[in-house]
Amino acid sequence: MNFPSAPIQEIKDELLAKQQVRLFVKREDLIHPTIKGNKWYKLKYNLEEAKKQGLNKLLTFGGAFSNHIYATASAGNLFGFQTIGIIRGEAHLPLNPILSHARDYGMELHYLDRTAYRQKTEERFINQLKKEFGDFYLIPEGGTNALAVKGTAEILENIDFSYQYVCCACGTGGTMAGLVRFASEKNDSIAEKNIEVLGFSVLKGVFLEKEVKKLLIEVYKNQTLPTVEDFNGDDYNTKWSIAHDYHFGGYAKTTSELLDFVSSFNQKYQIPIEPIYTGKLFYGIFDKVQKGYFARNSVILAIHSGGVYGEG
Ligand SMILES: *Cc1c(COP(=O)(O)O)cnc(C)c1O
Repeated sequence: MNFPSAPIQEIKDELLAKQQVRLFVKREDLIHPTIKGNKWYKLKYNLEEAKKQGLNKLLTFGGAFSNHIYATASAGNLFGFQTIGIIRGEAHLPLNPILSHARDYGMELHYLDRTAYRQKTEERFINQLKKEFGDFYLIPEGGTNALAVKGTAEILENIDFSYQYVCCACGTGGTMAGLVRFASEKNDSIAEKNIEVLGFSVLKGVFLEKEVKKLLIEVYKNQTLPTVEDFNGDDYNTKWSIAHDYHFGGYAKTTSELLDFVSSFNQKYQIPIEPIYTGKLFYGIFDKVQKGYFARNSVILAIHSGGVYGEG
């Protein structure tokens, strides 16, 4: 299960030239028409594991605007899995574009009120779901688990130029953890010592650092990499951090300033971004360029994680 590697595109801009940095975008939004972006990488090894376990039914959770629900329905359709989506909140008809796509791709949609939805990680609740739906392979909300991190690490494979910064938008931190993992391995080699991974949180609240550490520990505990003996997720050989200044009020919250930025970005560079994830990412990158955060003569690699579904 592999799609061709995403194309990489350089953004040329006066501000970047003035600050003497170069900005490249890895267009994960282009890897597949319906399984776009980081969600594919998160699903990949989970689908393999489901196959290994002989399970042909996937069950997962998400909000009504979840890109993960969209991608899981698409991937299930493409790779021959039945899919069940447990959606937070009440049904609203007509279905929004995400949910109607999921339904068209064969996903069975079920709705749970917010209180019941909170039990989504409890064993008792999962067992109840198994009674109702039969045996299934469970993918957590947002698609993030240790196998997802193994997949997101591959976003940085096969890049044939050097870069000093990798930037991504952070929701659950699953993508960030994969990038840190990859950069850590790469930083073992002498040629690539100084990769720094920078996440831009799209949520309000400072808890993502803990999530990323937890994921890295979970992933590394089953691996025998030379440098992980007493890895505590804290100071691995890659510098990483999460910026909390670009959430614009919280998840899916926006301001006219952000919306203006997104539409002018779309026009100027012909790279579609949206205000929930990649808009906040690029706003943050440009703001940090402006403030001189990135060293002169350095190369920044931004991960375009997808999320643009407007065209159906
Ligand atoms: C889900 C999503 C993210 C967040 O990824 P995490 O691994 O949950 O941090 C970022 N960008 C887009 C477009 C997404 O759909």
